Amino acid sequence: MDGEDHELLFVVSDAIPALISYLSPDARYRFANRAYLDWFGVRPSELIGREVRELVGDAMWALAEPHFRQALAGQKIQFEAEAAYRLGARRWVHVSYSPHRRPDGSVAGVVAMVSDITPRRAAEEARRAAEERMQLAISMAGAGTWDYDLVAKKLHWSDSHFRLLGLEPTPNREATMDMWQSRLPAEDLARFMAERERAERERTTLDTVYRIRRANGQYMWARATGRFLYDDAGRPVRFVGVFYDINESKETEKRLERLVDERTAALRVKLAELEAFSYSLSHDLRGPLRTMYGFAKVLLEDHAPELDPEAQGHLKRIERGAARLDQLVRDVLAYSQVAKENFERAPVDLGTVVADVVHTIDNGAVRFEVETPLPTVLGHGALLQQIFSNLLDNAVKFARRGECAVVRVYARPNGKFVRIFVEDEGIGIEPQHFERIFEIFGRVHRDGEYPGTGIGLAIVRKAAERLGGHVGVASEPGRGTRFWVDLHPVT
Ligand code: ADP
Repeated sequence: MDGEDHELLFVVSDAIPALISYLSPDARYRFANRAYLDWFGVRPSELIGREVRELVGDAMWALAEPHFRQALAGQKIQFEAEAAYRLGARRWVHVSYSPHRRPDGSVAGVVAMVSDITPRRAAEEARRAAEERMQLAISMAGAGTWDYDLVAKKLHWSDSHFRLLGLEPTPNREATMDMWQSRLPAEDLARFMAERERAERERTTLDTVYRIRRANGQYMWARATGRFLYDDAGRPVRFVGVFYDINESKETEKRLERLVDERTAALRVKLAELEAFSYSLSHDLRGPLRTMYGFAKVLLEDHAPELDPEAQGHLKRIERGAARLDQLVRDVLAYSQVAKENFERAPVDLGTVVADVVHTIDNGAVRFEVETPLPTVLGHGALLQQIFSNLLDNAVKFARRGECAVVRVYARPNGKFVRIFVEDEGIGIEPQHFERIFEIFGRVHRDGEYPGTGIGLAIVRKAAERLGGHVGVASEPGRGTRFWVDLHPVT
């Protein structure tokens, strides 16, 4: 090598961002570049001819020497180690030893190249720590993760995934599809697969619940959320997700359901008892009432001459009171019958029901306009009779005084229902009373003017509900009222 070649070698080796040195077979420095000298803070004259061990320290040399020996034996060697740095700090380095062979094959020395990989190591360390933290969080949340490589057909589980199933994690955390599938009841597996297929097709998140058998043979409830990852060509390449233990919440849910069922059953029994009680009470009340009413009437009719006008007045009040109470008892009985009895639903022609009701209540005070034909509905004769006699009774009762008003009955389709309207031109109802009038004893108008018990509309609502329908009202005070009932039509 002439002087210029030497110069070139120095320039080039100094420009390389790595520590380069040439070591003789007895492990002494023959050459070192600028980075090398800077690293140890030495001058070339302090380095050349010195033993490597002296400079790097015994510990580092103990680590490096076997590799150096292998290089001397003709092998190219690489390793990573934590090395001392001149400021007392420690750095991670990547070392490569390349044998320098003579033309005859013997090794003249070793070229050592050392790069500082501390930043890469730190980044790796940070990533590992982050991964560890995430795995910890996932396992603390009672969750495990899976990652299925659809191309290589390789399945990986997190440690917590294994542990949730009561299994020991495999060394490389590899699992098999069968390990998982064989633990699911057939119907849960089928549901999962259908959901998985949908998530893949529609590129949505899979979110499903299933039972899975743990290592101890017991089933646990799990919930899985997962997603497919696609390559640039849009092919699914990975299926990744999280799986949680929801056993406890499922168990609580089941306990609550059982509790609700038990309470509901107990309530039903109580309600039935109460209904039976009120029914028999109402029923038994009617006997003494009839006696009161009957004897007051007998007194009035047969003994009128012996009674002065005041006594007659008192008797009339007893008679009226008894009659009113009797009506009340009858209405309560009618209501509890509608509420508690079992009714079989069958097709009923509304035209016939309404015609019958109109026939009984028509007193000539209003004019009825009933649309024909009215539809046939899925109902029950007695319940429909209750509905229309109460509504039409009211339409007649709440007509404006001295006017021959019209009461209309007609039907219109309303989604899956048919809506029957009963419309009058009577005194109307203020909107704030629309809800109250459907309650038991919910009356708006004073009894003196418009007699009644306030049970009629409660019966209408209950009967409509028993037929799977609803009721409602629209009204304008002074102009009229329109009640409607939604019922199931028979087509
Ligand atoms: P009742 O007719 O025995 O009072 P309902 O339950 O049938 O009891 O009606 C409750 C209240 O609703 C009535 O007292 C009345 O104030 C009001 N109402 C019902 N139907 C009509 C109607 N067609 N027009 C005006 N008000 C009505």
